[in-house]
Amino acid sequence: MNIHFLNTTKAKFITDFIFPRLESNEKCFIVTANPEIVMKAQEDSSYMDVIQSADYVIPDGSGIILASKLINKPLPERIPGFEIMMELLALAEKKGKSVYLLGAKKHVNEQAVREAKTAFPELKIAGHMHGFFDLDDEAVAHEVVRSGADIIFVALGMPRQEKWIAAHKDKFNHGVFMGVGGSFDVLAGEVKRAPKKWIDLNLEWLYRLLKQPFRIKRIFKVVEFMVRIIFTGKKQRDYHV
Ligand code: UDP
Repeated sequence: MNIHFLNTTKAKFITDFIFPRLESNEKCFIVTANPEIVMKAQEDSSYMDVIQSADYVIPDGSGIILASKLINKPLPERIPGFEIMMELLALAEKKGKSVYLLGAKKHVNEQAVREAKTAFPELKIAGHMHGFFDLDDEAVAHEVVRSGADIIFVALGMPRQEKWIAAHKDKFNHGVFMGVGGSFDVLAGEVKRAPKKWIDLNLEWLYRLLKQPFRIKRIFKVVEFMVRIIFTGKKQRDYHV
């Protein structure tokens, strides 16, 4: 479906891909893609361009892992965006790198900053701002550039967050950029992540749906994605036979 996922594990993603780029101040755009993002990109060609412009697309969703197996190109494991954000916060604290938290509701954003400071006391917060602004608002982008942050977490939901990154990345001379969806809500304690058992059983999506039933429309998109994958996988298998 025209999206190239990075074939690696969570641990290797941090050590072999992100860490070297952070150290050399090389710009880097990470997309954590789930089936909804893949489907959205099929419907919106400008969003597809944005996803294809990313340096790394990592699989954040059990549907992506299952799909990779169905098309005989198995990816080793799910790389959840929330976990990468937490790992990067820890890495930033250790290496003296600074972070910017852009997005979520004002009180959530502020609470997420407080929680980050509590969990990582030496962490440098270059700045933070809520996510309810116009995507084209240049003042917001300039404020983030001015902060000089090394890692910019953007929590505006998809497709807004990836579109924001793609629209403004050129203004920065360095930075690791990553769309993190609802991760600030989780960090702030506003939304609970699924218990470990559910995550291990690949049922995090079901837990989220039970907690936020208004997400049901998204499940239809996931079903549509799986149906497409099953047909693509079958075609590919037929072709190889
Ligand atoms: N959000 C925001 N600005 C907006 C719309 C959404 O900052 O204009 C925030 C919202 O408050 C939440 C996050 O973006 O913190 C979206 O979370 P969600 O779990 O819906 O992410 P998705 O699954 O859509 O990527």
